[in-house]
Amino acid sequence: MRSSSKSLQDGKVKGETTPVSVLFAVSEIYPWVKTGGLADVACYLPQALREIGMDVRVVVPAYRSLMAQIHDYRVCTETRLPEAGIRYRLLEIMLPDSQVPVYLVDIPELYDRPGGPYTDPGGTEWPDNALRYAQFCRVIVAMTLNQAGLHWHPDLLHCNDWHTGLAPALLKAGGSNQPVVFTIHNLAYQGNFPYEIFRLLRLPAGFWSSESMEFYGSMSFIKGGLVYADRLITVSPSYALEITTPEYGNSMDGLLVHRQETLSGILNGVDYRHWDPRHDPFIWHHYWTDSLDIRRLNKLELQEELGLDRNPDAVLLSHISRLTGQKGIDLILYGLTDLLPDRNVQMVVLGTGESVYETGLLTAASARLGQVAVCMYFNEGLAHRIQASADILLMPSRFEPCGLTQLYALRYGNIPVVCTTGGLADTIIDVNEQTLSAGTASGFRFPDPTTSSLVTAFRRALDMCRSPGPGWHNLLRSAMQKDFSWNNSARRYAVLYDELVRVSPSRPAVQSHRTIPSDPGPVPGW
Ligand code: ADP
Repeated sequence: MRSSSKSLQDGKVKGETTPVSVLFAVSEIYPWVKTGGLADVACYLPQALREIGMDVRVVVPAYRSLMAQIHDYRVCTETRLPEAGIRYRLLEIMLPDSQVPVYLVDIPELYDRPGGPYTDPGGTEWPDNALRYAQFCRVIVAMTLNQAGLHWHPDLLHCNDWHTGLAPALLKAGGSNQPVVFTIHNLAYQGNFPYEIFRLLRLPAGFWSSESMEFYGSMSFIKGGLVYADRLITVSPSYALEITTPEYGNSMDGLLVHRQETLSGILNGVDYRHWDPRHDPFIWHHYWTDSLDIRRLNKLELQEELGLDRNPDAVLLSHISRLTGQKGIDLILYGLTDLLPDRNVQMVVLGTGESVYETGLLTAASARLGQVAVCMYFNEGLAHRIQASADILLMPSRFEPCGLTQLYALRYGNIPVVCTTGGLADTIIDVNEQTLSAGTASGFRFPDPTTSSLVTAFRRALDMCRSPGPGWHNLLRSAMQKDFSWNNSARRYAVLYDELVRVSPSRPAVQSHRTIPSDPGPVPGW
């Protein structure tokens, strides 16, 4: 039986939903290619949707680093893009330990390169990223329209972030009624390119309009999603409201106000099979709420691993992030003297990003040997070990669409100190007398992204952590028991899919659609 409820607004899922087949298009996926939380979502949300009966399949580019990790894929099809003439193969593999099929778009000249998904080994963006993701989007559209030679096609297309933003535009401009969901994981990344690139991509001329993908003299991939998708989802309810304001709208707020009827938030979740201190294979000592003393052993191990002073009584601060302005690492750097008032407070930072922050952190670490550890690389296991060892997570984000790091921290008892914005506001309950006695408190919030505000909240946390008595451990217990499992979010997505598929006209197995008036020849000059 299909759902009879329109329940996204009140957050309750009532009734049941019919299985819907979904193509989930995304630019990165854990465990093969990850730069941030998007990869976690691409891995865990489809699994949670499968568990409630949805036929979800993922499509990602076949990057070299990904291909190096897999062997048992199946070649499904080898064909040509009708509009662009480019040849591609679709490979299929199962996501590890899951029932989720993943299609890999194999176009060696675009994806078979060293480095990360978006950058070369030196961290510089690939100059042809517009082409790389435009062709990815063209393949997504072919798959959605059952024109890719697969014996499967989705009822609905679910796109994520700018890399997939052109797909809804191409699909709808081609006359398709196929429902499309577009999830905004971070509005700050828009995929904006100059007119010259728009011309080289040979997109329909009509896309160069302020009603379409033109954006203040550039072409904006994310606008393709924002304008053409049937529903827009942000990864937290607060962020859905925030991005309709000039402060957080990244100049898209006018458009988002216009599309407000279709915009809502569904909070991301945590896969507790992979993030749980009771059985995490990355950590040394497993523990739970009734064995918090064991947790201290992890701190000693981490101090050893990172060259920090071996000191079980030190309060260990942590920060795990892409080191960008968004994450507020500069607020931490400016506040270092207050955040590290004595040798009994230590800090570990795990992250890579802008060189100005990396340099600042290296300077801080060399001035405080044994007290500050800075790890400037990507290491999944270390992220888990830090969560299982540190006492306080500093997350002074200027904006935060959802944030998974604080959700993982809660489960591990690494108490978050967060700026009250976006998903941080939606997930962290501030410590005060009422929330402590009700057992709902989970962290320390501060109102503005300033160093003084951060330091004030941090002092509250430090005082409580150092106070004798059971207060701190009670806070850890209440934080660790919070439930942000993917199941809740998946059920909300399932209701949304169901609504959209129910209202869309039934489609033939093979779609015939208007030809998109783009130039058929291969794109020169790339
Ligand atoms: P965002 O998606 O904005 O990067 P999130 O908090 O939603 O932020 O997700 C970040 C994810 O990336 C988490 O899984 C976190 O553990 C991980 N992460 C970030 N930096 C690193 C790093 N240097 N090494 C390992 N994991 C990292």
